[in-house]
Amino acid sequence: MPDITNLDYARQLDAEDELAHFRQQFVIADPDLIYLDGNSLGRLPRATQQMLADLTRRGWGERLIHGWNEGWIDAPGRIGGKIARLLGAQPDEVIIADSTSVNLFKLALTAVQAQSPRHKIITDDLNFPSDLYILQGVAQAAGRPMTIQVIPSPDGIHGPIDDLLAAIDDDTALVTLSHTVFKSGYVYDMTAVTQRAHQTGAMMLWDLSHSAGSVPVHLNDAGADLAVGCTYKYLNGGPGAPAFLYVRRDLQAKLGNPLSGWMGQRNAFAFSLDYDPEPGIRRFLTGTPPILSLSAIEPGVDLLLAAGMDRIRAKSARQTAYFIALFDEWLAPLGFSLNSPRDLSRRGSHVSIGHAEGWRIDQALIQEMGVLPDFRQPDNIRLGIAPLYTSYEEIRTAVSRIRQVVEEKRYEKHGRDAHTVT
Ligand SMILES: *Cc1c(COP(=O)(O)O)cnc(C)c1O
Repeated sequence: MPDITNLDYARQLDAEDELAHFRQQFVIADPDLIYLDGNSLGRLPRATQQMLADLTRRGWGERLIHGWNEGWIDAPGRIGGKIARLLGAQPDEVIIADSTSVNLFKLALTAVQAQSPRHKIITDDLNFPSDLYILQGVAQAAGRPMTIQVIPSPDGIHGPIDDLLAAIDDDTALVTLSHTVFKSGYVYDMTAVTQRAHQTGAMMLWDLSHSAGSVPVHLNDAGADLAVGCTYKYLNGGPGAPAFLYVRRDLQAKLGNPLSGWMGQRNAFAFSLDYDPEPGIRRFLTGTPPILSLSAIEPGVDLLLAAGMDRIRAKSARQTAYFIALFDEWLAPLGFSLNSPRDLSRRGSHVSIGHAEGWRIDQALIQEMGVLPDFRQPDNIRLGIAPLYTSYEEIRTAVSRIRQVVEEKRYEKHGRDAHTVT
């Protein structure tokens, strides 16, 4: 048995890693910084830097409004089609538009309207809070009384799968969940939940924000109806990059876009005064696509396609398992709890650990240890592993520094005040 805590062991894993060379495709401004926030804001691909320079100089700078007919107007569907390949969907089933929150509103509301008179929306308490806020707005806008049933997790880590399946009934209009939950990294069985929803005639909407680019997703095989997700996390699209949405092909003409705007209109430049939407996925567009931030999504997606989701998942699985093995050796004895599933099949690519001094430990890591995780209330340090650029040695060093912060009580000199963005 190798000693997994040994530095040479980490280096051997890196030497054997067939995806290791992808790290060179990213801007690594500070090679000493261990960045474990790729699940929140992915690193900048070098190709994106180059592309944006070219887009502003030649595209916008020289081609001006010609740019719209030279690729910009089709970019939401074209780049969406590439993301579809990461999600097990058809190219004409995914498009880029708006933010994840806005897309969730559009798709949840149209689903609820299509399912009248059913009156229940089912989700869980591990879902991203913004998703719950959006559902509350959807219930207000539905035009009939709706009930949102939030099924509680048994332990704050695992999805309440049995209670959830049991709650879906003939009154359920929509079931919506984060496929990989943002705090613990628990991953739902997409097929099982979708099938249960369909048995009762409910629709299923998945938020793939923490899955896209990290966990294999097979929307078509699972029979999924609808999905939304972020591009700035594991897809490395850049801060605030627009989001994607998926609508299964046979549903596209049946569902409307409650934010009916001209970019979804059949022939937008005829400037007809009556809304007559495109039959396909483009009807889910609303306004003009943000070409700069939209274009920035493509190089990162190309890197993921080149690496392949199966190889990305294999590395992610090995890296999170390695992290947990080190956790057991070094952190569990210091009062840390593992706040992520141990079962690999239910675990995404980020791992959360809890400690009563979690916030101050997080501050010590960031301010003096060169480790950048993030923090989720109340005590949760979240470590995102992005297989395209996170190395095994970084994981080992990060765990070793977390241990050092606690053993040497380095957190004690840090304050308890919270920042705006954590
Ligand atoms: C990150 C994330 C979002 C973010 O939504 P925005 O509209 O981009 O702010 C939404 N849902 C989930 C599950 C997320 O993880």
